Amino acid sequence: MSRYRGSVCRQCRRENMKLFLKGDRCYSDKCSFDRRAYPPGQHGQRRGKSSDYGIQLREKQKVRRIYGISEKQFRIIFKNADRQKGITGTNLLTLLETRLDNVVFRLGFTSSRTQGRHFVRHNHFTVNGRKVNIPSYVVKSGDVVELKEKSRNVKAIAESIETVVRRGIPQWLELDKDGFKGVVKALPNREDVTLPIQEQLIVEFYSK
Ligand code: SF4
Repeated sequence: MSRYRGSVCRQCRRENMKLFLKGDRCYSDKCSFDRRAYPPGQHGQRRGKSSDYGIQLREKQKVRRIYGISEKQFRIIFKNADRQKGITGTNLLTLLETRLDNVVFRLGFTSSRTQGRHFVRHNHFTVNGRKVNIPSYVVKSGDVVELKEKSRNVKAIAESIETVVRRGIPQWLELDKDGFKGVVKALPNREDVTLPIQEQLIVEFYSK
């Protein structure tokens, strides 16, 4: 999978909002966006008027970057959302939110989705007692995501669990902090995704 290898904070400045891609740093005064809230590059401070296409493109890029997904994979997820019954935009957000790398981040086991992906790949979690090391694995209602016993002393994970209160846990998930596990109480609906996303713009982008 092609991976973005440039400055992560540049992406926030490009999308004109904090995307919270760097864990604790995002909440500190080291945040680049807080210090330079304008697009990167030589002409970054001259923000011109965008076309409809430009606005739709930016929304798609923003969401793709929040969840750390490649263009190719994002398009596949969109196609799956489009094939499902219901509202495509909402389906898309549900599919993104229920990815295992996002779920471990939302439960507070990791400080960012990137770290979530890393730890999932390195076999730190089980789903319903079975090893799952696929970050794009989609959880279902009732699934139990658990941190393996041997991973409970990993410093980054322990620190992240301690600070999860700051981010809050969405109501569709339930964390058993002492048991190092979380339950998917229900699939997230539109109201559960509190990120400032206009998913309709993404639907319009792919409908061209
Ligand atoms: Fe974005 Fe976090 Fe970097 Fe701030 S510190 S610019 S929120 S990635």
